[in-house]
Amino acid sequence: MRRLAAGNWKMNGLRADLAEVEALIAAHPAPGCEVLICPPATLLAPMAALAAGRLALGGQDCHARAAGAHTGDVSAAMLADAGATHVILGHSERRADHGETDAAVAAKVQAAWAAGLTAIVCVGETEGQRDAGATLAVIEAQMAGSIPAGATAANLVVAYEPVWAIGTGRTPTLAEIAEVHDRLRALLAARMGDAAGVRLLYGGSVKPGNAAEIFAVSNVDGALVGGASLKAADFGAIVAALAG
Ligand code: PEP
Repeated sequence: MRRLAAGNWKMNGLRADLAEVEALIAAHPAPGCEVLICPPATLLAPMAALAAGRLALGGQDCHARAAGAHTGDVSAAMLADAGATHVILGHSERRADHGETDAAVAAKVQAAWAAGLTAIVCVGETEGQRDAGATLAVIEAQMAGSIPAGATAANLVVAYEPVWAIGTGRTPTLAEIAEVHDRLRALLAARMGDAAGVRLLYGGSVKPGNAAEIFAVSNVDGALVGGASLKAADFGAIVAALAG
């Protein structure tokens, strides 16, 4: 399977920041892994023109409906039309800030698939849930509720992002990451029969300094990177670590 380095720019990025993407492409013209950037929707079209197929692009959310009276929302078809091939769904910031439930995420995944996008579905426990020993139960419930029937290795990527590790500089131990990723693979296998091709990303404070050790963990097929994806030098180092 081709490993995946995915950058989530969140609500960061103006046209001037396209220079970072130019620098990334120049420094890694033939990366040994798939490289994906999910910028704000406003930058998708100019980034697609700049990337010219040399890296993949994704949205950070989409509406569950294809079109209609939903002021301020973006549909999956709009993302695809602007050059996206992927969309992040169920990120913990959307679950927390916008009250997105597992069922809401599942409806968005279906909309993404209908528009031909690959859904990157995020799951992860809060610190309190980890402290209570509930991590695997939380992940299992999120997986069951957020991913509708019809998942394939081509249309689904799963990102394990412990909420307490996002933007904090803290990460789980390598054994804790392995425990969750092994469970994710088993859960997918139970649903899909053969889940070997579904890429499982780790996300949460991945940096150039910890990328290589995280990528060596069992069933880690890439990373979803927030803060460190904004600068070409940092994201490039992570891309290089993933390519091995
Ligand atoms: C994220 O929000 O998807 C993320 C992993 O953020 P960071 O890398 O900044 O922790």
